Amino acid sequence: SSATVERDEKLQERIAKHPCYSEDAHHHYARMHVAVAPACNIQCNYCNRKYDCANESRPGVVSELLTPEQAAHKALVIGGKIPQMTVVGIAGPGDPLANPEKTFRTFELIAEQAPDIKLCLSTNGLMLPDYIDRIKQLNIDHVTITINMVDPEIGAKIYPWVHYRRKRYKGIEGARILHERQMEGLQALKDADILCKVNSVMIPGINDHHLVEVNRVIREKGAFLHNIMPLISAPEHGTHFGLTGQRGPTPKELKEVQDNCSGNMKMMRHCRQCRADAVGLLGEDRSQEFSKEKFLEMTPEYDM
Ligand code: SF4
Ligand code: SF4
Repeated sequence: SSATVERDEKLQERIAKHPCYSEDAHHHYARMHVAVAPACNIQCNYCNRKYDCANESRPGVVSELLTPEQAAHKALVIGGKIPQMTVVGIAGPGDPLANPEKTFRTFELIAEQAPDIKLCLSTNGLMLPDYIDRIKQLNIDHVTITINMVDPEIGAKIYPWVHYRRKRYKGIEGARILHERQMEGLQALKDADILCKVNSVMIPGINDHHLVEVNRVIREKGAFLHNIMPLISAPEHGTHFGLTGQRGPTPKELKEVQDNCSGNMKMMRHCRQCRADAVGLLGEDRSQEFSKEKFLEMTPEYDM
């Protein structure tokens, strides 16, 4: 029907300008992250809280934390200086939805002052079902959920605990809550017509064989793109897995899993795991150019 055609065209347009969603767009459009969300509500074994959330970023990076006002100012300054800047995302350094006041205030300010910028959010999904209305209201049209398992028994090996509604749940009990909330969130995004990408961290010996099943489930639930990222094992990361630490996959192992999952779904292979305060085209990092000290001195240029 013509309604379907129109919907598809709209979808194409939404994808085409987002550097993380389209391999082609990532050469032409830039994104920036603002680091406004320090807290997290779960523990991933591969996380080191001294650094950015490892669900979307490279290990070993410490981003400069901003207030919502500073973040909006930064978005305006950079929007004025980098014309290809189409997307502002919040991806950490903790979980954006574990810091809902800061996260949504930031989005609100940016939407008021720069309505053309697309807003994007990356989360572990635990609190996602609670905020769907807010996300829709603010026109946030891209959400990334990190889903590493659809089986709580495997989840228990990845997540030692989950903090949910004022209570801490350990092991399989916590993993089950996280799993149920992620599935609920995924469904709610689909119902609200919000584009959803799923990130999975590939952890050899833990969830590597399981990711094909993860892929099947998220595809069925309407995720639009799947990004399987290698666990990057750095000395400061992943040691929670055991005394000897946890290795990451080889490029060959990663490609094998990506190939096994591809079916008729788009796999994202151009991801470079950017930091919570990344600025620029994917793979390019101009965050130092716009360090907190520097951008706070810059006056926004409104002739975007
Ligand atoms: Fe959005 Fe993730 Fe891309 Fe950042 S890296 S702009 S949060 S999809
Ligand atoms: Fe760390 Fe991110 Fe996991 Fe939270 S969701 S524990 S910040 S990797």
